[in-house]
Order: sequence, then C-alpha cells, then structure tokens
Amino acid sequence: MVYICKGVCDSLKGEKIPNGSKYGYGQKRCTLCGIFMTVSGFRCPCCSVLLRTKSRGRK
Ligand SMILES: [Zn+2]
Ligand SMILES: [Zn+2]
Repeated sequence: MVYICKGVCDSLKGEKIPNGSKYGYGQKRCTLCGIFMTVSGFRCPCCSVLLRTKSRGRK
C-alpha cells in the first residue's frame, strides 16, 4: 500500500508549540506529512500512516 498526503493534514495541524514539547501536549507526528497534529486515532486521517506519539531515543 502506498501512502499519499492528500493535503487534509493542513487543517489538522496542531497549535504552534515550542520545539521539543509537542509530544507532551498530546500531539502526534505524521512522518509522511511532516507535521504535528491533534488527532484521537493512531493513524493520520490524511494519509493513514501510523503516527508517532513519542520522541525517539528517550526512555
Ligand atoms: Zn497530509
Ligand atoms: Zn499524514
């Protein structure tokens, strides 16, 4: 399956939050769309890619 950004994410963007604390605000990152968004599901409503909910490389 190929994931494609449909541009829907543009309206899903979360509020602007200082770098580094976005995950702490419950925002999730779509690696394909390359933005943080506030959604309830585990997948991006735009491209259906699994969203990241935590920073990498931290315990
Ligand atoms: Zn998108
Ligand atoms: Zn996406």
